[in-house]
Amino acid sequence: MLDESSKRIAEGLFRRYYEKANFQIGNVNEREFGFGDFEKKIAYRHYSFKDNASLKRYLAEKAPAFASYSSSLYRYPDRRPMERKEWLGSGLIFDLDANDLHLECQSKHGSSWVCQNCLDGVKAETIKLIEDFLVPDFGFSKGEISVNFSGNRGYHVRVDSKELFSMTSQERKGISDYIAGVNLDITRFFPTISQRGKRLTGPTPSDYGWGGKLAKAMVSALNSGVDSLASLGIDRVIARKLVRSKADVIFGITTGNWDKVNIPRKGEFWGNVMKRIAIAQGDSIDKNVTNDIYHLIRIPETIHGDTGLAGKAVQLTMLDGFDPMKDAIAFRQGVMRVRTGSVPAFQMHGEEYGPYKDSDVELPVYAALYLILKRLAKPLE
Ligand SMILES: [Zn+2]
Repeated sequence: MLDESSKRIAEGLFRRYYEKANFQIGNVNEREFGFGDFEKKIAYRHYSFKDNASLKRYLAEKAPAFASYSSSLYRYPDRRPMERKEWLGSGLIFDLDANDLHLECQSKHGSSWVCQNCLDGVKAETIKLIEDFLVPDFGFSKGEISVNFSGNRGYHVRVDSKELFSMTSQERKGISDYIAGVNLDITRFFPTISQRGKRLTGPTPSDYGWGGKLAKAMVSALNSGVDSLASLGIDRVIARKLVRSKADVIFGITTGNWDKVNIPRKGEFWGNVMKRIAIAQGDSIDKNVTNDIYHLIRIPETIHGDTGLAGKAVQLTMLDGFDPMKDAIAFRQGVMRVRTGSVPAFQMHGEEYGPYKDSDVELPVYAALYLILKRLAKPLE
C-alpha cells in the first residue's frame, strides 16, 4: 500500500501534469478507457470520451495513477459486457517487458526494480521485433509502426494498417506465435535432421523467414566470436569448436551444409538457438496482449503510477538513442526530501544516485517520486 502522504504528493504532481498535457488520440470517441489507482493498474473500465478535451479534463480532475485505452475501436465503447460494445477493429499491439527476458541481473535485483541492463535489453528486443520481424517478414512499413515507452520497464509497439484492422484474435495469435517461435518444426528447416548418417542440409542466409533468420544469426555470431554464440544459448565448448573452424562453418551455412562441425543432439540444439532468436513476450495467455483484442494498454504520454515516468512516444529513428531514465522524465522541477529504504544505485537524467540504506536524502522531484512510487522511500515533511 502506498501511504497517504505519498499518495497526496503523487496525485498533486500528476494533476498539474495533466492540466498542462495535450492529447491527440485518434478515434478517441470509439475507444474504451480504463483507469487505475496506486494498487491496481485497471480498477475501472468501460469509460468513453467524446473528444480529447473531455479526456484531458477527466485526467486533470481525477489524476489517476494509471490511464489506459483500447487499441480496439467500438461503436459503443462504454457498453458492457464487451460483446455489446460492437467491435469495429483493432491495431496490432506488442507489449515487451524486461521481465520476460529472464536476464541474469533480475535474479539479483528482483522483478520490481529495473536496472540499465534491463532497459537496454528490452530496447534491443523492441528494435529486433521491428527490424527482424515486422518489417522483413510481415512487410509492414515503418510509417505504420509506432512505439512508446511503457513508463516502467518496457515498450509498446503498435502497427496500424488497414489489412490487419479486422483480424480475429486467432489470426493475431498466429502472428504472435510466429515472432515468439512457437511450434517451429525443425525438420522444415533441416529435412535430414532425424536421419542418421545423412548430411545435415539446412537454410541459407538468403532464405525467407525463420530459416534465413537462423542462418544469418549464426553467420553474424560466428563472426563476432564465442560470446555472441553463447548469447544464442550455445554451450561454450561447442562455441569454441565452431569458432576454430569459423571460415569452414560459415562457408557451409552459406551453401546449405550444416555439417562442418559435429554437434550432438542436433534437433534440440538448433531448436534452442531458434528460441533465443525469437522475441520474448509474455507467454501466459492472459499476458499476451497481441491476441487479446479487449486488452487495455497505457495511453501514450500518460504517467505510470509505479515510476512517475511518462509513457513517451518514441520516433523509430530515435529509438536507438532513447534513454527512458532521462527522456521519459515528467517532473523536471524542484527537489524533495525523502527517507529511503534499501535502494540500489540508479541513474536519472545522467546523474548517479545511491545506493541508499535507510538514509534521509534530498533528491530532484523525479528521483524522489520514482523511489516513493517504487515503495522504496517515503516523503519527509
Ligand atoms: Zn536488471
